[in-house]
Amino acid sequence: MKWKWHIYYSVEVLFALLTCFVIYYAFCRREQSDLVFVIFNLYALLAVILSLILVVRVDRTQQRRKQSTRKRLAHLTENLSSPALLWSDDFSQVVINEKLTGVTGIAMRDDYDARELVGLFFGMKEMNEADIRRIVMERNLERRCTAPDGTNHELVWVTSSVETDSAGVTTFLSIAADLAELRSIQSELADYSRRLAASEGRYALSMELTDIGILLIEQGNPKLFPSDKLCAMLGLQGTVITVPELEKLVYPADMAVFERHLRNMRESMRAFVGEMHRIELRVRAADGQYHWYSYRFKAKENPETGRLVVGGSVIDISEQKAQEAMIEQLAYVDDVTGMPNRNRLMRMGEELYAGTVEMGTSYWVIVMDIDRFHLINDTCGYAEGNRLLQSFAEVMNAQIKSYGGFAARISGDNFALILRDSGEDDLPDRAVQRVQQMLATKASGTLVNRNLTCSAGYARMPADGDSFEHILEHAEFAVSANKRLGSISRYTSVMHDSIIRESDLEMQLAEAIQRNELVLYYQPKVALETGELIGLEALVRWQHPSGQMISPGVFIPIAEKSHLITQITRFVMNEACRQARQWQKMGLPPIVMSVNVSGTDFYQQNICEQLLATLSRNQLDPRWLEIELTESLALKDIDLTIMQMQQIRAAGIQIAMDDFGTGYSSLSYIQRLPFTMLKMDRSFVLDMETDPVVREIVCSVMRIAKAKRIHTIVEGVEKPEQARLLRLYGCDYIQGYLYGHPMDAAETEAYMRENMTKRKVY
Ligand code: C2E
Ligand code: MG
Ligand code: MG
Repeated sequence: MKWKWHIYYSVEVLFALLTCFVIYYAFCRREQSDLVFVIFNLYALLAVILSLILVVRVDRTQQRRKQSTRKRLAHLTENLSSPALLWSDDFSQVVINEKLTGVTGIAMRDDYDARELVGLFFGMKEMNEADIRRIVMERNLERRCTAPDGTNHELVWVTSSVETDSAGVTTFLSIAADLAELRSIQSELADYSRRLAASEGRYALSMELTDIGILLIEQGNPKLFPSDKLCAMLGLQGTVITVPELEKLVYPADMAVFERHLRNMRESMRAFVGEMHRIELRVRAADGQYHWYSYRFKAKENPETGRLVVGGSVIDISEQKAQEAMIEQLAYVDDVTGMPNRNRLMRMGEELYAGTVEMGTSYWVIVMDIDRFHLINDTCGYAEGNRLLQSFAEVMNAQIKSYGGFAARISGDNFALILRDSGEDDLPDRAVQRVQQMLATKASGTLVNRNLTCSAGYARMPADGDSFEHILEHAEFAVSANKRLGSISRYTSVMHDSIIRESDLEMQLAEAIQRNELVLYYQPKVALETGELIGLEALVRWQHPSGQMISPGVFIPIAEKSHLITQITRFVMNEACRQARQWQKMGLPPIVMSVNVSGTDFYQQNICEQLLATLSRNQLDPRWLEIELTESLALKDIDLTIMQMQQIRAAGIQIAMDDFGTGYSSLSYIQRLPFTMLKMDRSFVLDMETDPVVREIVCSVMRIAKAKRIHTIVEGVEKPEQARLLRLYGCDYIQGYLYGHPMDAAETEAYMRENMTKRKVY
């Protein structure tokens, strides 16, 4: 800009010279014309005035501009956040900003010489041309500045020229940094980077230790960006992979999930911004095996590119999946048979029930029970029992293969089958019969001679209940209502009512046992020939708190369906032995105490030991104990019955065959059993008087028994005539109201005392 002003001045001078020449010329030629002379003079005067105005104005503008630039620069400098010094090389202008005063303690003062002041900041006394050049040329000029108070400040200067005015004066802006502060920032930075590196190291380490891979998917980019860890996990090479490369690793069955998610991500990545999303997939890992991986991801905008990026962590969850599968297995699969268990059946049933309501479909819910399973468990051991359950499961699975449907093991020996109801009412019966036929062929090993059968009960869904749970319960009721082995019953509402009553009674009975409400009554057994008391049958009664005496005919069948019978037998056995021994100790004539033993208890593996333990506890000789078994019980499993009976006999305990004649067995069959007493059922006595065929039967039985050295007793004898007939036929003993009703202990004791002196013979 400097040259512009030179031209201005040059033009001004030329103009002034020209004007002078014009005035001179006008003066020399004044004689020519007064008018021309006047015009020339006026022009010259005007030119001089105009030149003077021009010069003055240019100078003023220049001054104003200079001042405003200086003001602007000074203002700028004062507001700079770094320590700064504005100065001109003629030292006419020096501005120190507050920050620089703050660092050095040097402020603007009128008594300072500007040159010295600037020199103070740069640690230069003279501030000559060379110094100024050095300041301008040298970037990051490190200088020590000693303030008037004697304090030293290490400063680093960066100086740049801001402007040079028309007079050739250059203004400089020097920005300083406090070296001490800089050093502390540097060390802080170094510290920070060390910490950052450490934390990055920790991050990398934790990533490595936790086996977390990272996968980035960029919007519009066909490549995927796996982290090093992910590459190592999946055995990938390089830093990017393509979708087809990754697809090759995805487990075929999970491909649909993978593709759906990838498509969604690509097409509407924005939908994944914000919340975390998750996919679980099987992917082939570096070891060549398929592993379960979870990819937790969300989309975010990359601030640098403005594009959306999906990023997330990839974790191997195979172990967790295996645990889940194990939990599922434990929760829903029966461990013995590998079939679905009750929980699974309940889930499935509930879903189907909901479907029936919505779609108007119908199903059969069939519950099957392996007959006498507990006997097999007790006598052949649990391993054999489990094998039978597994065989049953095979049969059930074969069923659902041919009929369709769903099968489960719902408890001990209970299995359930759900079949679609296609309108044929005989479908459940046919299905169960098929199971029964197949089961019969499964007898092997120690079960080879056993007749394997199962019973069943069924209900229709949704007609027979208002929920699947109720329908299953009803099918179970139907099973328990079966009277004979191998029966199949359909649930009816009548059945339900009776079962409800029974289950109420069962609960009350359980409480009664706890409260010792069971008592024993004793009924005499008398020798027909002599009228002598030979034994007593212990008959249990339930002394209800209401005062009512409940007959065993009411509660024993219920107890036999549950575990309660075992508790009852234990009580009766112990009490009968104790009483018998007590009476012996009291000097009463020793009698044989008979105790009824139900099938469940008889087939206990250690029944003989239990009996002997009870006897020894009560110090009763085994010969004074007789157990009464029913014919139906013995027929359940003849070989096992024989084995158990032989053990008991060998221990010296007597065995009576109770209720003989009520079953269907032939006498020759029964003869295989080692019992000591045959106890004919009361029904023979009733018909004997009127029916000659019955008389003939009684006669033959007595004969055969005698030949086999088995004692005979007839129960239910009420009349002397009956007694006489039986005596005639060779019967040894009788039991019945004729000789005495069942009596409580006190009455029995009195009876025994009386019998010692008086005997009745008919
Ligand atoms: P049971 O073993 O055949 O017992 C004989 C039943 O016939 C008894 O009925 C007895 O009172 C009854 N009785 C005896 N003589 C006559 C008579 O002359 N006329 C008539 N009408 N009945 C007579 P109770 O005591 O009601 O017992 C019924 C059944 O309950 C018993 O039949 C037995 O099977 C069972 N029971 C009784 N106590 C026990 C027990 O402690 N354990 C087991 N497992 N069952 C028992
Ligand atoms: Mg009996
Ligand atoms: Mg009987």
